[in-house]
Amino acid sequence: MSDDMRPFLESEQIALQKKVRRWVDSQLIARGVDEPEDPEAAARRLLRLLARAGWIGYTIPKRYGGKDTRISARHLCILREEISRGSSMADTMLAVQGLGSFPIIHAGNPEQKKEFLPPAARGDQIAAFALTEPEAGSDIASLQCRAVRRGSAYILNGLKSFISNAGIADNYVVFATTRPAAGKSGITAFIVDADNPGLSVREKLSLIAPHPIGTIEFRDCRVSVTRRLGRVGQGLEIAHATLQVFRPTVGAAAVGLAQRALEAAVDFGSSRRQFGRAILDFQGNRFRLAEMATELRAARLLVHDAAWRIDHPGKDSALASSMAKLFATETAQRVIDWSLQIHGGRGLVSGSVVERLYREIRALRIYEGTSEIQRLIIARLLTQGSRGHPKGKSRPARS
Ligand SMILES: Cc1cc2nc3c(=O)[nH]c(=O)nc-3n(C[C@H](O)[C@H](O)[C@H](O)COP(=O)(O)OP(=O)(O)OC[C@H]3O[C@@H](n4cnc5c(N)ncnc54)[C@H](O)[C@@H]3O)c2cc1C
Repeated sequence: MSDDMRPFLESEQIALQKKVRRWVDSQLIARGVDEPEDPEAAARRLLRLLARAGWIGYTIPKRYGGKDTRISARHLCILREEISRGSSMADTMLAVQGLGSFPIIHAGNPEQKKEFLPPAARGDQIAAFALTEPEAGSDIASLQCRAVRRGSAYILNGLKSFISNAGIADNYVVFATTRPAAGKSGITAFIVDADNPGLSVREKLSLIAPHPIGTIEFRDCRVSVTRRLGRVGQGLEIAHATLQVFRPTVGAAAVGLAQRALEAAVDFGSSRRQFGRAILDFQGNRFRLAEMATELRAARLLVHDAAWRIDHPGKDSALASSMAKLFATETAQRVIDWSLQIHGGRGLVSGSVVERLYREIRALRIYEGTSEIQRLIIARLLTQGSRGHPKGKSRPARS
């Protein structure tokens, strides 16, 4: 079971952790919802289930039908760790609902908040966050999707790739350039309805683990000026603000997956006997188990430290967030691999828990800023202002 993170969590948050853990055990793990056959149907069903339980409410402020007065990174980390322990798909639905809603919370006007946030909190509408393009992955400032103002509307043209919830979302927060010559300062955000005739889902992708995802295309897509999010040119700031809050939550999801792998290793390794003993009686395996638990605890501490900093304005959180995302996702991959090794051949059988975790963890080292990009951010923050590295001169990488 997860550790008590009392230094970082308040008693109300520890109570939430216990409540969501009980819910995950009874509603996800006991019911075996971890490997859905039809990802899209499962995604919709899981979102409704999460909304009914009240968990989606933590992605929306109270004023618009959510739970807290402001979005709490610690609440999101608690939810993602516990929920991913039970179902990676359920975790994805919570996370993407948050990613698609946060830009509206951050930069939306009162009308936009009233229109989009309450249905998102209820799980009646599915949100999405469309930043990545075929030629703009880590280098988001180079995006090419174009928005041209025509009277009371913008006309969007371009592609967005690897968009979670493509095809099932009701609306997308889309980042496009309104002034290509201005580079990163020319990017503007928009809210685009999925049924806008100029928007289509060009392809749906099948990844190594189920995840509703695909490419969306804008062809002369007319978006009313009332759907512009924030100021002209504020798009990159909105994207960064969103990713800044969600980055440690990716680490939290990784910790949840690794926690499940650790529990599976203890269960299996204690009962599986070879050479007349439980395989966890062999010292080599005991040492490995100790390393898994220790590294996992270190990852969890980094995640909660980063989330605590985000929840306390004025505390520097950027360095801690990148370190948490980097270390937790890389550690989780190792822990899950070791758990699979302890399972021997059984760990490779399709449908076994560790086989599924082994596939599910992989994407977390890539999305919302790859491990390499986190290393670049960490190094940039460490060298900023030092000789030869003037502040603000480096090109902004994703998140
Ligand atoms: C499951 C999943 C869900 C996703 N959901 C969304 C979503 O909802 N919305 C959205 O907008 N995007 C989404 N993405 C896209 C994701 O954010 C990008 O895949 C990610 O940012 C990396 O971009 P890329 O795949 O184009 O890789 P690239 O940027 O092409 O990178 C390829 C490799 O080069 C490395 N690299 C790149 N630049 C550097 C550098 N300067 N130094 C060292 N190494 C470098 C990278 O680390 C990586 O290893 C999702 C991706 C996945 C896998």
